[in-house]
Amino acid sequence: MTAAAPTPPMIRMAGVDKFFGPLHVLKGINIEVPKGQVVVVLGPSGSGKSTLCRTINRLEPIDSGDIEVDGKRLPEEGKALAALRADVGMVFQQFNLFAHKTIIENVMLAPMKVRGVKEPEARKLAQQLLDRVGIANQADKYPAQLSGGQQQRVAIARALAMKPKVMLFDEPTSALDPEMVNEVLDVMTTLAKEGMTMLVVTHEMGFARKAADRVVFMADGEIVEDTTPEEFFTAPSSDRAKDFLGKIL
Ligand code: ADP
Ligand code: MG
Repeated sequence: MTAAAPTPPMIRMAGVDKFFGPLHVLKGINIEVPKGQVVVVLGPSGSGKSTLCRTINRLEPIDSGDIEVDGKRLPEEGKALAALRADVGMVFQQFNLFAHKTIIENVMLAPMKVRGVKEPEARKLAQQLLDRVGIANQADKYPAQLSGGQQQRVAIARALAMKPKVMLFDEPTSALDPEMVNEVLDVMTTLAKEGMTMLVVTHEMGFARKAADRVVFMADGEIVEDTTPEEFFTAPSSDRAKDFLGKIL
């Protein structure tokens, strides 16, 4: 009998470089995220965290290196790219819900358009997801009628509606009033416990300590530390991480 092939990591970046004109924003990034792992990405503003997220579903092209999602190399364009994007859910600081569609319509839209799901099924799934993020009773309202925290939970439901293999979060709570931060982090924590593979850029250190399996610390386009939350918060090895922690803790 032959041994089963090892499962590929959910995300694999190897030697990834990215430039904006003369600016080298990702410098030889190497990272592998196994299935089910929750990675929190920390680092000062401008260190390349958002760009890192955006390259994973090709919102930004890269200049060299390789990116694979679930063992598949990122396609250049076309149908394969659309399929890959559907596998990678993304939640941003700005929720960008469609203002003229109801909450449930916002969640139904992509599965119908991209996955070809029929309306009744899309509605049923959307209702289940709204229930899961704790806003089932808001389904027929419009985004402006919801609080920021509720809107961000809709954005999470909308991403989950595509049945993604991995979820990327780029500062999902940074635009929220403080009292709404936890309701969003709670949804993310539940998702993490359910086994979702997640890459989360955040400044919420409580979340990083509690929910992360691993902390990746970036500075100047490089991964400077890649370790456990315990290790990162108690014994960071680089001066840049010590400096960063000194400013925020
Ligand atoms: P972070 O999310 O860690 O704050 P970013 O990935 O947004 O960092 O940015 C990394 C660097 O790339 C910064 O110097 C930023 O100014 C620059 N940058 C980001 N997006 C663009 C862009 N579209 N064009 C030019 N420079 C950009
Ligand atoms: Mg950013």
